Amino acid sequence: MTSPADKEIHKPSNFLRQIIDHDLAGGTYASRRWAGSPGDAAHHAAGQPDPARVRLRFPPEPNGYLHIGHAKSICINFGLAREYGGVCHLRFDDTNPEKEDTEYVDSIKDAVQWLGFDWHNQGESNLYQASDYFDFMYRAAEHLIETGHAYVDEQTADEMRHNRGDFGHPGTNSPFRSRTPAENLARFREMRDGKLPDGAAVLRAKIDMASPNINMRDPAIYRIRRAHHHNTGDKWCIYPMYTFAHPVEDALEQITHSICTLEFEDQRPFYDWLLDRLAEGGLIATPHPRQYEFARLNLTYVLTSKRKLAQLVNEKRVSGWDDPRMPTIVGLRRRGYTPEAIQLFADRIGVSKSDSWIDYSTLEGALRDTLDPTAPRAMAVLDPVKLVLTNWDEVMGAGLLDDCSAPVHPHLPDLGKRNFKIGKEVWIERTDYEETPPKGFFRLFPGNKVRLKYGHVIECTGATKDASGKVTEVQATLIPDTKSGTPGSDSVKVKGVITWVGVSDAVQAEVRLYDRLFTEAHPGGSDRDFLEELNPNSLQTVTAYVEPSLAGVAAGQRFQFERHGYFVTDLKDHVAAKAVFNRVTGMKDSWAK
Ligand code: ATP
Ligand code: MG
Repeated sequence: MTSPADKEIHKPSNFLRQIIDHDLAGGTYASRRWAGSPGDAAHHAAGQPDPARVRLRFPPEPNGYLHIGHAKSICINFGLAREYGGVCHLRFDDTNPEKEDTEYVDSIKDAVQWLGFDWHNQGESNLYQASDYFDFMYRAAEHLIETGHAYVDEQTADEMRHNRGDFGHPGTNSPFRSRTPAENLARFREMRDGKLPDGAAVLRAKIDMASPNINMRDPAIYRIRRAHHHNTGDKWCIYPMYTFAHPVEDALEQITHSICTLEFEDQRPFYDWLLDRLAEGGLIATPHPRQYEFARLNLTYVLTSKRKLAQLVNEKRVSGWDDPRMPTIVGLRRRGYTPEAIQLFADRIGVSKSDSWIDYSTLEGALRDTLDPTAPRAMAVLDPVKLVLTNWDEVMGAGLLDDCSAPVHPHLPDLGKRNFKIGKEVWIERTDYEETPPKGFFRLFPGNKVRLKYGHVIECTGATKDASGKVTEVQATLIPDTKSGTPGSDSVKVKGVITWVGVSDAVQAEVRLYDRLFTEAHPGGSDRDFLEELNPNSLQTVTAYVEPSLAGVAAGQRFQFERHGYFVTDLKDHVAAKAVFNRVTGMKDSWAK
C-alpha cells in the first residue's frame, strides 16, 4: 500500500519537518491517548493510543474570507498532517463574541475543501469550535486562581498600561496582586455572575512584572464583556483573552505541533507557562502541545489583511469578497486559479523563520505551470477588426466556407481536435495591422504575407479608415493551396502567423481583462493609505470573438487563448446565452519589470 507520504517524499526538508521527524524518532508523543473528541486529561486517559501520529490544526477566526496567506497556512498544516500520517483539525477560533458570522464559517469550510484538504479522519470529523471549550477555560482559570497563579485586577485600563512598564523599564506590581486565592476566587465569580460592569476588572496571570518579555508581565486572561455569542448566547459575560484561549484549545484537542506566524513568537513563553501550570494540576493531558512559528506570507501588490480586504468590500472598491482581483480564496478561484496551482505555490515558497516578500510572479508562475499542461487551447480576438479576403469568391467560391482544425492541446492528442471555419471575412486583432510597420513588425501591412494560424497564407493589400483615422476594415488576398496541413502548404514562406476567428462561426463573449489591484509592490507600506494605491486600470472589459469550440462551455472552465494567455469562464456571470471570460493571467511573466 502506498501512503500519501510516499508521494510527498521528494519534498525538501524544512525546519518544521525536521522538528516533526525529531519528535517522531524520539517518541515525544508516542504515549498520547485520544478519546475521539477534545477534552481534559481524564477524558483522553480513557481513550485509545492516538492513531494519528501528529495532530495539527488550522484555527481561523470566522470574521472574514480566507486569503492567500491563510492558504499557505492551510497547505502547511493539512499538508504536514497528510505527509506524516496525522490529522489536521479545522478549528473556528470563535472566542471573541463580537465578530462571528455563519457566512464566514461556511466560506472557510468551502475554502479548505476546495484546496483539497479534509478534517475528516477515519470516520471522525475534526471540525471544532473554540467556544465549546468555554466551560473548561473557566475551570482552568479557577484552577490558576486556586493555585495562586492568577488574580483579579481592578486597576483602570490606564493604570494597568502605565504599570506594565516598557522595554527599558520593569513594570510595577498592581495593588491587587497580593489578594488571597479565596478573595480572588470570590471576586472572579462575581465577574462571571455579572456583578461588575464591563471593563471594571480583569483576571490576570500572576507571573513576573519585571520580565524582559512584556507578554509575561501578568497578562490578562479574562475580561468582562456583555456580548451575545453566536454559540453560547448570553450564558457568559466574561470571555477569555486569545493568548489564554489558544493554548487551552490546542491542549484539549491533543495538538502536537501548534504552528503559527512569527508575531506570536513572544507569546510562546506564556503558552508554555500556562500549559505547564494546567499539566501540573492534572487538568490537561501530557506531553502538552508546543508552538512553532513561521514567517507569514507577504505577496507583492497584494494585501493580506482581512481587515483591509473587508474595507475594500465594504467601500465597494471591488465587487465583493469573490471579486476576481481579490486575493481571497473565493476571488482567486473565480479568477481561474486551481487548487493545484496554490498548493504548488505553497510548496515552492516553502516555510522560513524570517519575514520576506514573495514576488507575485511566483504565484502566477505556479498557475501557468499547472494550466499549461492541461488547458484546452482556443483562438480568441480581444480587440476585433474585420479582415476581408477580397479574392475569396474567385479562388474559394462565393458564399463558401472552408474547414480548419487544430489540436485541443498540442501535447495531448487524445483530447482530439477543434474545428472551425474560414470564409471571406474573419476577425483579427486590431494590433495585427500597421499601415507603416515599425522595425521588426512581421504581421499585416500592405504588401506583406502572413499565415492565418491553422488556415491559409494571405497577402495584405490595405485597409479602410474612418474620418478619425481609425481602421475599420483590413483587406488581403488569399494565396491558394497554402492551407495548413495540406501538401505544399508551406511553399510560401512567411515571417508572421496571426490568430483569428471566422465571422461566420465566431461566438461573441465578454472578456474581463484583470490586472494587479494595486500600483505599489507593498500596498499601504510606510504608513501610506492603501486606498490611494488602487490601480485604476485593474479591470478592462471588452467584447471579443472566440472560436466556436467555446460555444456552450460550462462556468469555471479554463482555456489558453493562443497568444493571449489563460482565461476562465466566470463562475458567477457566465451563462450559455452570454459567455463571460476572465483573464487568469497572460502567457508570460509581465511582472518582472
Ligand atoms: P488577518 O491578519 O488577515 O486578519 P489573521 O491571522 O487574523 O489574519 P486568522 O483567522 O486568525 O487570521 O488566521 C488563521 C491562521 O492563518 C493563523 O494560524 C494565522 O497565523 C494564519 N495566517 C493568517 N495570515 C497569514 C499569512 N499572511 N501567511 C501565513 N499564515 C497566515
Ligand atoms: Mg486573527
